[in-house]
Amino acid sequence: MSFSRIIGYERNVSLLRRALATGKLSHAYLFYGIDGSGMKEAALALVEAVFCNGTDGCGECPSCRKVAGLRHPDLHHVQPDGAFIKIDQIRELQKELSYRPFEAPKKACIIEQADKMNTSAANAFLKTLEEPSGDAILILMTTHVDAVLPTILSRCQQLRFPSLSTETIASQLREKGADEDSARIAAALAGGSIERAQEIVEGDWLQTRRSLLERITALSPEEIIPLFAAAEEAAKDKDSAIHLVDLLNVFWRDILLTQSGSSEIVNTDLSPLIRSVAERNSLDRVIEKLERIARTRQALTRNANPRLAIEVLIMSLAD
Ligand SMILES: [Zn+2]
Repeated sequence: MSFSRIIGYERNVSLLRRALATGKLSHAYLFYGIDGSGMKEAALALVEAVFCNGTDGCGECPSCRKVAGLRHPDLHHVQPDGAFIKIDQIRELQKELSYRPFEAPKKACIIEQADKMNTSAANAFLKTLEEPSGDAILILMTTHVDAVLPTILSRCQQLRFPSLSTETIASQLREKGADEDSARIAAALAGGSIERAQEIVEGDWLQTRRSLLERITALSPEEIIPLFAAAEEAAKDKDSAIHLVDLLNVFWRDILLTQSGSSEIVNTDLSPLIRSVAERNSLDRVIEKLERIARTRQALTRNANPRLAIEVLIMSLAD
């Protein structure tokens, strides 16, 4: 994964390239932004570039491959052990950083979910930031920058990886060979995440979407068994439940748009279904359904039981 393959964050990439070219890399970076933004790819690309002698990693030499596979002896990788990053993990990191690099010009470390350091780990890590041993490069990543200690934040150069616009995502997907419909629908469903958009295009979600929406909109509250079967099938875990809710959100927004006379809908391939649902529901009912969808999404992010939440939602969406 070299910089050239990172999508949508040109500003961050050019900043890192310039720092590499001028020998002005920071000792510590903090990458923060949304889940699935490609922060980790950017971190790996930076380490590849540092290790592979140049302003860009080639992505092909043994060093680049080992970095990409997180098995380079000079790249230390830290992620939460259970709920937290613990002090033992930081001590281990400090020990690693105190050795001379084996193959690379310097040591590197990638810390995922850096906000998950418990207090003792964070305090120990602060020492590493204050008195870096040797010439290592530290890259911290988080989707919850507010939860990182201010004393850690202030010692890192911060790069933000925000949600990408649907236009940016759709054009990137088209560039990679997705057809017009898939690119537009995947971009609308991806919540600003290029990774999620690629998953949608490459997986079978676009195919299952149609039958799922047809079944959900055809359900009547009396058909309790197919209702629960649909819920069980669609909400195996929190992530898939959220994906389903996002799908329903875009679909019911299309219905609202159709009712207000707009043709700018996302699911153009489902327009007959959308029109028929729009005709049998009043505007107030559609708005109420969109509100329920929004509330369910919120509950899911707060760890509501996915199956139960989806069952209740699907029941309330049934005509
Ligand atoms: Zn290389």
